[in-house]
Amino acid sequence: MAFTLIDLPYDAEAIAPAITAETFSYHHGKHHQAYVDKTNAAIEGTDHADASLEAIIAAARGSNQGLFNNSAQVYNHGFYWHSLTPSTSGPSGDLAAKIDEAFGSLDALQEKLASAGAGHFASGWVWLAEKGGKLSVEETHDADTLVDQGFNPLLTIDLWEHAYYLDHQNARPGYLKAVIEGHLNWDFAADNLARGTAWTYPN
Ligand code: MN
Repeated sequence: MAFTLIDLPYDAEAIAPAITAETFSYHHGKHHQAYVDKTNAAIEGTDHADASLEAIIAAARGSNQGLFNNSAQVYNHGFYWHSLTPSTSGPSGDLAAKIDEAFGSLDALQEKLASAGAGHFASGWVWLAEKGGKLSVEETHDADTLVDQGFNPLLTIDLWEHAYYLDHQNARPGYLKAVIEGHLNWDFAADNLARGTAWTYPN
């Protein structure tokens, strides 16, 4: 079963100026597409040909770095598109309660995401995640992902330069501020928390 490039869940212009349509044209249309194509090429005719993306990621971790990198990036980017929304609403209900419990306040969580993302060396991802009923901010390097590591990922932000360079040049903190304050999809996070198991890549 070949994987597909999922559509953006909003218009490519909808997140601007934090993330512009030009960035999406490369980031979604070229980078994510390339990860999909390379994953499909690597699994064709192998034991992985009919496996889920999440099973492929888990099997490839530590044994097939090329397949791990590409399949994890397919997952991470699909998850990232859904972590963004044209206009943010703010968390409520159980999600808001768990944020207060873990971080003290939404402001404190936002500051932690911003500082972790800004301080992350080179490429990677910053996440809000749940494990054992507790929320935490996590970082993964390069293509690494949380989906096969016992976490229920709630939100992620791409820290690779290709995510922000066209719009913010070297100013990763400006990109993070714009996304964190204006475009995090708390409804997606709440759905992930309520489901209790990690989001799966749609095919
Ligand atoms: Mn990316």
